[in-house]
Amino acid sequence: MKKRNEAIEIIELLKKTYPDAKCSLDFTTPFEMLVSVMLSAQCTDERVNKTTPSIFCKYSTPQDFVDIDILELEQLIHPCGFYKTKAKHLKECAKKIVNDYNGVVPNSMEELVKLPGIGRKCANVIMLNAFNNPCGIAVDTHAKRISNRIGLSNNTDPNKIEEDLLKQIPEKYLKDVNHLLVYHGRNLCTAKAPKCDRCPLKKYCDYCF
Ligand code: SF4
Repeated sequence: MKKRNEAIEIIELLKKTYPDAKCSLDFTTPFEMLVSVMLSAQCTDERVNKTTPSIFCKYSTPQDFVDIDILELEQLIHPCGFYKTKAKHLKECAKKIVNDYNGVVPNSMEELVKLPGIGRKCANVIMLNAFNNPCGIAVDTHAKRISNRIGLSNNTDPNKIEEDLLKQIPEKYLKDVNHLLVYHGRNLCTAKAPKCDRCPLKKYCDYCF
């Protein structure tokens, strides 16, 4: 792990590099956010954004997802991959929201992680983007890779990486961290052939030494 002041410098540099970093999933309600983030597993946000308009124009509430025929839902979300598992989770999740939360997406980590198909990563994304109340850091493939490369965490388990990040990064940065790591992972710290020569984090990065 890094010293707290180094972690802050890293985040500040990323903020300067990506001043417009924000959520790239399209949504208008917490439930649409939940659907989009569930569809984004093993799929690009771009593809999710191309897929959801044709769903949300007809089906946009938890009750709609309870009522929709699973075969129709599978067909609608097919482009996002893993459509059978995702359709099953979406229907189970919608049912629990209707039955236990009166059709309203709960706004706490504790309740979100109890929903079918929602782990800490998705719950963190929902808390941040739908409720503007970040409680942790979503550790997706970019956050995992970059945290490991830089040396912010030596763990491989996303939950442990999140714990490490939370020890080093002050609360005021929680709203920015995931977006910044995603942008950095897409632009410079790519999975294959990272562009270290152009990276502002070079001097902090274990991968570069
Ligand atoms: S120096 Fe290279 S490996 Fe390290 S964060 Fe930058 S791009 Fe990634």
